[in-house]
Amino acid sequence: MFQHTIAELSQLLQSKSISSVALTRAYIERCESLDTELNCFITLTPELALQQAKAADDRIQSGTSEALTGIPIAHKDIFCSKNIKTSCGSKMLDNFVAPYDATVVERLANAGMVTLGKTNMDEFAMGSSNETSFYGPALNPWDKQRVPGGSSGGSASAVAARLVAGATGTDTGGSIRQPAAMCGITGLKPTYGRVSRYGMIAYASSLDQGGPLTQTAEDAAMLLSTMAGFDERDSTSVDRPVDNYNSELTNKLDGIKIGLPKEFFNQNLDSDIGDNINSAIKILKECGAVFKEIELPNSHLSIPAYYVVAPAECSSNLERYDGVRYGYRCEDPKDLADLYCRSRGESFGEEVKRRIMIGTYVLSSGYYDAYYLQAQKIRRLIRDDFQQAFNDVDIILGPTTPTTAFKLNENMDDPVSMYLSDIYTVSANLAGLPGISIPSGFSNGLPVGMQLMGNYFQESKLLNIAHQYQLQTDWHKQIPGEFKES
Ligand code: GLN
Repeated sequence: MFQHTIAELSQLLQSKSISSVALTRAYIERCESLDTELNCFITLTPELALQQAKAADDRIQSGTSEALTGIPIAHKDIFCSKNIKTSCGSKMLDNFVAPYDATVVERLANAGMVTLGKTNMDEFAMGSSNETSFYGPALNPWDKQRVPGGSSGGSASAVAARLVAGATGTDTGGSIRQPAAMCGITGLKPTYGRVSRYGMIAYASSLDQGGPLTQTAEDAAMLLSTMAGFDERDSTSVDRPVDNYNSELTNKLDGIKIGLPKEFFNQNLDSDIGDNINSAIKILKECGAVFKEIELPNSHLSIPAYYVVAPAECSSNLERYDGVRYGYRCEDPKDLADLYCRSRGESFGEEVKRRIMIGTYVLSSGYYDAYYLQAQKIRRLIRDDFQQAFNDVDIILGPTTPTTAFKLNENMDDPVSMYLSDIYTVSANLAGLPGISIPSGFSNGLPVGMQLMGNYFQESKLLNIAHQYQLQTDWHKQIPGEFKES
C-alpha cells in the first residue's frame, strides 16, 4: 500500500476501496516503527491525523470530498501549525506552539488532507544536509551513512522511504530541489509569490518559497493546485489565477525548446551525473523536444551573491528572537543585555550564528555598498541572463546537484564546500523563477536528480515535461531496499 502515489490513493479513497482512517492508521504505524531509524520527523501528530481522517471519511461518504481528501501528508516544521509545536529545527523554538496555521497548512487541511506530523529540517532552513538541525540529522534512506540533503531533508527522506505519500518543503536556495535529488523523489519550487509565505517562518524573505515534495510530477501538480494562489495576508503573494496543472500534464513535447546552459556542464559536475543527464536528454529528444546550448554568463556569481543576500535578510528576520516575546529564554538574566545575549547565544546553532554575523556585517554602514548593494546588482544580472535565455528556449535543463548525497560530517567543517552543493539551484531563487527536480537515475546506488527551470509562472510547463519523462522512465518508482514492503 505504501508504494501508492497521491493520485492512486485519491482513486482508492474516492472509490471507497479504502477508508482514510485505515490508511492513516497504517501510515502512523509505519512512521512510528521506521522513523526511529531515519529521524525524519520532529513531531508526529497521530491524534490530529485520526481526527482529520475521520472527518475526511465523512466528507467522502457525503459526496463533498475533493481529490486530496483523506490523504496523509507531512509538513516541514517551518510551517506554523495551530496548537502543534513548530520548532523550525531550532532550540530557540523548541518550546513554541504555533497559535495559528500557515496558509499552506490551512489550504491543504481545508482540502481534507491529514497531517501526520512535522518533518525535520536544518535550523531555520540554513543548511544543505539537515545536519544543522537541533534534533540531529534526518538520514538518507538509500544509505543511512549519508545525508538526505537539506534543508527540507526530513520531508524528502520521509517521501523516499514511503513514510508518507507527499510532504511540504521550502526552498530559499535549493532546499526543495536539492534534497529531492539526493533522495530520488520529485520536488518543485514554484515562482516567487505563487505560494503564500504567511505562517512560513522567514529565513530570507525575498527568496523563500514553499512547494511540494512527492514521488511524481502528477502528485506535485495535485498539491500545488491547492497550495498556490493569492493570499491577502502575504504582501508578496501574487494575485493571478492558478493554472490547472493536472490538465496540462498530458501535452505532447513535440517542438518544445530546451536550453542546456554550458556553465552547468563543466568540470565541477561529477562525470557520472553528467552522463546520467545526457541519457535523460536522449529520452526527452525521443519525446520530441529539441535542445540548444545556451549561456548564463553570470551564473558563477550566484553562490557569492546568495551568501550576501540570504544572510543579510536572515540577520534581520532573526532579530525577533530576543528571549522576551516567545521562544527560548535563558535562566536568571542579570539585565536586559544579558537576557538578549544569552537567550540567543544558548539557543542558536553555529551555522545560524555564522549567517547572522555575515548578514550584520554586509548590511553595516561602510560595507553596505561594497557587499549588499553589489549583490543586488548581480542578482539583477542573473535575472537578465535568464530572460535573455527564455527569448530562445521554453525551458532550461541541467543537473540539480554537482554530486550525489554525501556522507554525514563530510562537509560540516567546510561551510564553503557545503554551500557549493546548491550551485545549480540558487540562481532560480535569486531570479524568482520556478524549478523542479525529478529522479533521473542512479550513480553508485545513489539517486541523481535532473532539474528543469522555467520562466515566471510556467509551473505547468515544468510539470508537463517532468510527467512526460516519468511516463518513459521508472526512476521515480524506485524504493530503497530496506523500506520496500515485505
Ligand atoms: N543551502 C542553502 C542555505 O543554506 C539553501 C537553504 C534553503 O533553500 N533553505 O542557505
